[in-house]
Amino acid sequence: MKKENVKKVSTTRDYSAIRTSLLNLQTDIINRHNQHKQDNEVDVSGDDVDFITGVFLVEMSNQLSKRDIALIEKITSALDKIDNDRFGSCEECEEEIPMRRLEANPYCTCCVPCAESLEAK
Ligand SMILES: [Zn+2]
Repeated sequence: MKKENVKKVSTTRDYSAIRTSLLNLQTDIINRHNQHKQDNEVDVSGDDVDFITGVFLVEMSNQLSKRDIALIEKITSALDKIDNDRFGSCEECEEEIPMRRLEANPYCTCCVPCAESLEAK
């Protein structure tokens, strides 16, 4: 008999709302950036929010602020986790992150206790 107790994030959770807000955040950053660069003709189709790739990030890294880049990376990785059913668990202790925390901070990677102990370091 195979072991069935493999630790997996609950699939009963619905992350579609969080996914949408992540995509909106991502689009906001890009749009904000495009507005700054309006007179320099940036060839980015704003309709496709999935176009962000590593190459794209590198190309933009000279123009985006460090804060925005870090944010986009967090958002991209959160979206990636949602698509791969790995979203919602703490990167430190692997416990489920409370839904309320995820809704308030959709790209957080760890639970409150772990975040606090990381900050204390
Ligand atoms: Zn944790």
